Amino acid sequence: MDNIAMQEGIRKLFYQCDEDDEKIYTAIEALAEKQGERVYHEALNYLFAKDFSLSQASRYWREATASISKSNGHNQSFRAVLLDYLRQKTTELINPRIIESHDLEEIRLSAITDGLTRLYNQSYFKQQLQQAIKLANSEAGQTFSIIIFDLDHFKQFNDRCGHLQGDLALRQIGDILHNSTGELDLPARYGGEEFAILLPDCNLEEAIPLAERIRGAIDTEIFTGQERLDNNNLTISGGIACYPQHGQTAGELIEAADRRLYEAKTTRNAILPRLDDTRCANRHQFRNIVEIRLEDGQAFTSALSSDISHTGLSLKSDTTPQIGTKVFLRFRYPFWPKTLETTGTVRHIGGTPSAGAFKLGIQFDTPQNDFFKSLLPESIPQP
Ligand code: GH3
Ligand code: MG
Ligand code: MG
Repeated sequence: MDNIAMQEGIRKLFYQCDEDDEKIYTAIEALAEKQGERVYHEALNYLFAKDFSLSQASRYWREATASISKSNGHNQSFRAVLLDYLRQKTTELINPRIIESHDLEEIRLSAITDGLTRLYNQSYFKQQLQQAIKLANSEAGQTFSIIIFDLDHFKQFNDRCGHLQGDLALRQIGDILHNSTGELDLPARYGGEEFAILLPDCNLEEAIPLAERIRGAIDTEIFTGQERLDNNNLTISGGIACYPQHGQTAGELIEAADRRLYEAKTTRNAILPRLDDTRCANRHQFRNIVEIRLEDGQAFTSALSSDISHTGLSLKSDTTPQIGTKVFLRFRYPFWPKTLETTGTVRHIGGTPSAGAFKLGIQFDTPQNDFFKSLLPESIPQP
């Protein structure tokens, strides 16, 4: 269980055991038995919103709850015992206040949401973006995307319809973003009339249609007063960036998405990159032997590349993976300037197999800029 799963496990445990203190305490001890002392660390963190060290957390928990463990049938709440211990025996809690968890949750939610649109606010978006980078770094091949949107000619809308009507339009857009995104996606109000979405586990080919759906929904939505605009229609533009190919830090990703948004503003009511632009711009015809092995396959088999970019390649191969299958790829010397072994994910499978071979579109899990440096022109910017 990683840290995030553990945090979620503890949160659920409190939630599922509802108000039954004894049940919660027993469940925590049972979980600690299986998962180790990190459980105490997470439980204390959940209860007191304090990040004790692992050894401190275990010691506090043990010393505080020793009296409970000794007596059969706990007539003392373990929370009260912990609170009392931390107050009396340590300097961790100097001046605590006690609050219902439901009320605390409301305060927490209001701190991370934007009041007008009910979307997440910018600081929470940025915090979660950092979290997504951390998570993706810890597991090879992880990808995610961000979209940044900006309303078109919104100043004109405000000037002609009034600020109040502008606020209502922003709220309507918030609803569209809510309704167009999944449970794991994080739609946020990024600034005045700017919005952003974090899409975990989502690559460029998946992010573009989602961004297009949102653009289309806003294009067709009727906003009161929009007939006063020069083009009679309130629209939005957007730019997309994906980890890791467009940036590896929060700053780089936001800048990359912003750059595309800025380009989209030349026509407005547009999303960049477009689906057709994605790999085409950087593909190079390159017929050569590439060896491929499926995640659960035994041996490498030879395949023939048809085009290659820094971020992926098309292969004719008689292997039969499914979309999303992880593959191992080997570019072997002397067919290639040096031998490279890397991994990728199957993103497309060509329609009809010709001569027993399928055409596979594979995205490298990590862009291979160095390897293709001498083979592919570098002057063409990456999509
Ligand atoms: P562009 O298509 O180039 O993005 O043009 P624009 O008019 O949208 O861009 P600009 O940045 O010049 O104007 C943004 C406007 O958004 C200015 C401001 O009046 C409006 N705005 C920002 N925040 C709010 C808000 O909370 N409520 C309302 N009603 N308007 C807002
Ligand atoms: Mg703006
Ligand atoms: Mg704008």
